[in-house]
Amino acid sequence: MKFSKVCTVFDAMEVTSSRLALADLLAKLFEETDKNEIKKLVYLCQGVVLPPHSGIDLGMGEKYAEQAISIASGAKVEEVEKLYRKTGDLGDAAEQLLAKRTQTSLSQNELTIAKVYNNFYKIATISGQGSQETKIKLLAELLVNSNGSESKTIIRFVTGKLRLGIAEPTILDALSVMKTGTKELRVALDRAYNLTADLGLIAELFYTKGLTGIETIAPTPFNPIRPALAERLPDAAAIVEKLGQCSVEAKYDGFRLQCHKQGNKVTIYSRKQEPMTHMFPDLVKAITEQINAKSIIFEGEAIAFDEDTQSFLPFQTTITRKRKHNVKQKAKEIPLVLFAFELLYANGVDYTQKPFLERRKALQDLLKPGKIIQLSKTITIDKAGQLQEFFDECVANGLEGIIAKDQNAPYVAGSRKFAWIKLKRSYQGNLADTIDAVVIGFYRGKGKRTEFGFGGLLTAIYDDENQVFKTIAKVGTGFTEEQLQWFNDTLSHISVKEKPRNVDSLIEPDIWVTPRLVVTLTADELTKSPTHTCARKESEGLALRFPRLTQIREDKNAIDATTEREVIELFKMSIKQKLYGADTN
Ligand code: ATP
Repeated sequence: MKFSKVCTVFDAMEVTSSRLALADLLAKLFEETDKNEIKKLVYLCQGVVLPPHSGIDLGMGEKYAEQAISIASGAKVEEVEKLYRKTGDLGDAAEQLLAKRTQTSLSQNELTIAKVYNNFYKIATISGQGSQETKIKLLAELLVNSNGSESKTIIRFVTGKLRLGIAEPTILDALSVMKTGTKELRVALDRAYNLTADLGLIAELFYTKGLTGIETIAPTPFNPIRPALAERLPDAAAIVEKLGQCSVEAKYDGFRLQCHKQGNKVTIYSRKQEPMTHMFPDLVKAITEQINAKSIIFEGEAIAFDEDTQSFLPFQTTITRKRKHNVKQKAKEIPLVLFAFELLYANGVDYTQKPFLERRKALQDLLKPGKIIQLSKTITIDKAGQLQEFFDECVANGLEGIIAKDQNAPYVAGSRKFAWIKLKRSYQGNLADTIDAVVIGFYRGKGKRTEFGFGGLLTAIYDDENQVFKTIAKVGTGFTEEQLQWFNDTLSHISVKEKPRNVDSLIEPDIWVTPRLVVTLTADELTKSPTHTCARKESEGLALRFPRLTQIREDKNAIDATTEREVIELFKMSIKQKLYGADTN
């Protein structure tokens, strides 16, 4: 397929806001590709060259992209920079400069999806001496052969600023529409996506083999599975009312890891399916020594543990193990314990379909005793009092709370269901849970903060039904100096000149950013607000009162943020608590 066709559709998507219309546009495009291109096209729509678990990230710096534009257009780098400053978008600047080329080379080759993808792939994967020059040449080659909006799309892609305004669910919608004209195959497609987290692979199987193709997808080592998530209920009594007899586990406040092993090969993935193996040589060793299975996929929470005092260390200490350098030394300084809590696959058997108690028993049987990997602490209860007692014990031991688990439920990959229910310790006057919000804009600093160029965040939650981000809070407190600097650096890379199309906001920040970065916020409460768009009805939405930043969640994607539905549930819970005095402390 010609790349110009893809760009025409991308341009149309940029001015379309209805989710249905976006899926229809994409579905038509998918229909017109062939079986060798569909995978590449789907990755292009996602703005990636391979799924996140490959660990390959295109991320080309703007400075290099400017050099490539200069080579291809004949304009000086200073001219490129000047126009970039004027337009506020390097893609637009590239389109304008390349359109001004005095003569279009006669030897221009029409770009195809395959050619564009292959160059992107090379740019993403080559490394070593001289690789930067090669990357610039590969990009310039594409630009020389590009016309009109192709130049803009290419530049936006390599700098991570595509503006299609879609997320994975729209691509899944479009695949279903491509085959049936409706969204009727979404359930089967979601299942496949939750088990592989690779939209390109699913699209190819679905395109070539239809429904049967994706139904054969099963857990496979080194294809990370999207995590099961926990619902919330206000107190112990509500949990027991919902689940009856259930298993209750300690909730460890570390980071969630999904461990894959086949033979001697081990890969550890983060919550958003990125490979992190190199960060945890101690855990890799423990997996090879303590796991008694040829192949396995299991999950656990890694948390820093002080052997001497037999106590858990705070999250701020655990998080320092997430690093690229000095890994071995840090592993010695801050040893981790991995509390294994789920078995998803072992020795060819898919455990995701089996009930929780069976998964737990099998996990126990496959785990040899040892210090580093331990089973999560669990008890069976059927009374609220027992649950409360266990909760109090966990909190007294410095843990976050508990997770109650339905003993008969399968592992619900990628979904927030009542198979797991969390109950966290909450502080007097605070919200019953933190909110994971997406940064959609920021404010320039005042006073001391001027030096960082950053003064606060405009944040939003996710309306997953309509796939838009709706504002919930402006956050100006809770930042360390290091974080101020970090936000300034990070946000400047994802800033955009206009409000992103998948953002619903009545507030205008100084600078908009692509919704990508997730932060955990705590607040005193949820209140009604005339200015925020979260859960907005009759000119009033919901907002966080006195929001504070507690964490930067690099392990979450924007669509993993707290949803609008969850915020509404939290608001209802808080009203009940005020009325009836229910207490989770
Ligand atoms: P979520 O993962 O639900 O989107 P989150 O990352 O903000 O949200 P919480 O909602 O506080 O975390 O709780 C769920 C998380 O708790 C799990 O993703 C997992 O990382 C962690 N966890 C800790 N202990 C356990 C356990 N025993 N069983 C399951 N999850 C656990």
